[in-house]
Amino acid sequence: MSGQKDHANLFDDARSRLEEVFDAIEVHGDARERLMQPSLSLQVSVPVRMDDGSLKVFPGWRVQYNTTLGPAKGGIRFHPDVNQEEVTTLSFWMAVKCAVVDLPYGGGKGGVKVDPKQLSKLELERLARSYIRGIADIMGPDRDIPAPDVNTNATVMGWMADEFDHLARAKVPAAITGKPPELGGSHGRVAATGRGALHVLDLWAEREKRKPEETTVAIQGFGNAAYHFARLAHEQGFRIVAVSDSKGTIYSQEGLDPDAIMEQKQRNKRLHDMVYCDDSVCIAEDVEKLDRDDLLTLEVDVLALAALENQVHEGNVDQIKAGALLEIANGPVSSHADEQLEERGVPVLPDVLANTGGVIVSYFEWLQNRSGERWSEEEINKRLAERLVRESELVFERAEKETISYRRAAYRQGIERIAHAIQLRGNCQDSE
Ligand code: GLU
Repeated sequence: MSGQKDHANLFDDARSRLEEVFDAIEVHGDARERLMQPSLSLQVSVPVRMDDGSLKVFPGWRVQYNTTLGPAKGGIRFHPDVNQEEVTTLSFWMAVKCAVVDLPYGGGKGGVKVDPKQLSKLELERLARSYIRGIADIMGPDRDIPAPDVNTNATVMGWMADEFDHLARAKVPAAITGKPPELGGSHGRVAATGRGALHVLDLWAEREKRKPEETTVAIQGFGNAAYHFARLAHEQGFRIVAVSDSKGTIYSQEGLDPDAIMEQKQRNKRLHDMVYCDDSVCIAEDVEKLDRDDLLTLEVDVLALAALENQVHEGNVDQIKAGALLEIANGPVSSHADEQLEERGVPVLPDVLANTGGVIVSYFEWLQNRSGERWSEEEINKRLAERLVRESELVFERAEKETISYRRAAYRQGIERIAHAIQLRGNCQDSE
């Protein structure tokens, strides 16, 4: 989508946030050293036999940022802009976010540089299987557990899980999360990221004594997380006035119905064999159509960013008129823009808290797979809500007590937990 794609600086930009945290929480020197770079980066070639008989080789990566708190955890992205820098940054954010919500996981991420929408369904399946063959040696329920991310979903996870089982000569469902329920996936996983973001927004709104009916929301992106967030927020009474995707924005002051938009998208889909729903939100009828990036500068109460990283940056932060920002995507606000928003007193509900619903339910999936249990959707949603209430309140209270932004508070909470664990593992001068 929009934004400066300065991936060469994405990682530096992301970890620049660490320095301030290290000073504020007086982290032991070992943790500082450990957390400035990933612990393992693997680059693989992903060969795919195309339908026309030719062979194409796509570059892929898997990065394990830190595994102090547990096995690496994080999604796999298929996108033409994927590169090592981006995967490393995303793995760093996974490490922070798992710690913020107290999951027994480190952070990891994977990606393949490919435009999946140019592939047939069978080519996509071969790509998914080939990628797993490339990274299988560093995977496993106690080592590194992939999941869906941009342009990968339950269908793709099902193929990957099947490939891993073949390689392991065993059934190892806990090696991958976000699978279809028939293959050991968890109920509630598909909607989890959107549901989690809504919990965080709700908790914040409650503290601010702000009613859903009086709150307008614009959403950048209409992928899986955005759709479920929009659907649930609409149900709760929030007024979704605008939604955008890579092709444009639709706007209605009276409010949009996310299910009606999805239905029109689905109806129109040429669809890549049911793997992706690909048509634009712009096919929706009876709505005002705006340019894609116009959404970012709308005067709304909440701007929910659910597309890609670095969407609000130095070049457009001045034009942001929203009352608050909700980060459903990973890293949608650059650190420079974040500082500007902080100075202007615009609250940002940060990614490392607001989009943890997905990985929390991935954790529930992993627990169910390891114990051979199957929990109901009701049970999953209850546990998700409980964890998010507990961890969000800690972040909000810390922000208030230390008069810092929610992001700074969340980073302090997460990094403190990882740093503590690094110290407790011993081998450092003043460990007890
Ligand atoms: N890709 C998602 C994220 O960025 C989910 C990761 C997971 O479930 O492991 O949080």
